[in-house]
Amino acid sequence: MDLKTIIREVPDFPKEGILFYDITTILQNPEGLKASIDQIQEKLEGVEFDYIIGPESRGFIFGVPVAYNMGKGFLPIRKQGKLPYKTKSKEYALEYGTATIEMHVDAIKPGDKVVIIDDLLATGGTSKATVELVESLGGEVVKLLYLIELDFLKGRDKLKNYNVDSIIHK
Ligand code: AMP
Repeated sequence: MDLKTIIREVPDFPKEGILFYDITTILQNPEGLKASIDQIQEKLEGVEFDYIIGPESRGFIFGVPVAYNMGKGFLPIRKQGKLPYKTKSKEYALEYGTATIEMHVDAIKPGDKVVIIDDLLATGGTSKATVELVESLGGEVVKLLYLIELDFLKGRDKLKNYNVDSIIHK
């Protein structure tokens, strides 16, 4: 199935000038949902890893089914203040202001190999912060995988030394 045809493109959301790629129209479509999970999973054939990591919240949607299908664990990355146990945080710059992401301190053991899955790679700011957080806990990022990559924003330039892969390029 060609997933490109069922992504809804919403102009000027969340603000003027942004073309928002709305993946709810993929999730709503039974064949689209299956194809999106299957196509992400195919990109992991032959990759050795221990965990899938998904940033809140659309990383959860695509990360969990792939982890489940492949017999791996899933580790959530959450926005500040949501995780109940001891956390490690990473602050990063947004267009206006900053954001902070967190993981539980004991989620990763040194040497664990992880794959990061998210819905969309834009500027790469979120992904770079995620990589730094994983590495600060001793994890090794073996791949970053996206359903959609906005090529013109050159997010992968921020992730030069990593294996970055996407299903759909826009
Ligand atoms: P970035 O840190 O710039 O790579 O953006 C990270 C997150 O923002 C992605 O995981 C998306 O969920 C969301 N995002 C950024 N730009 C868009 C867009 N044009 N359409 C939909 N989601 C977006």
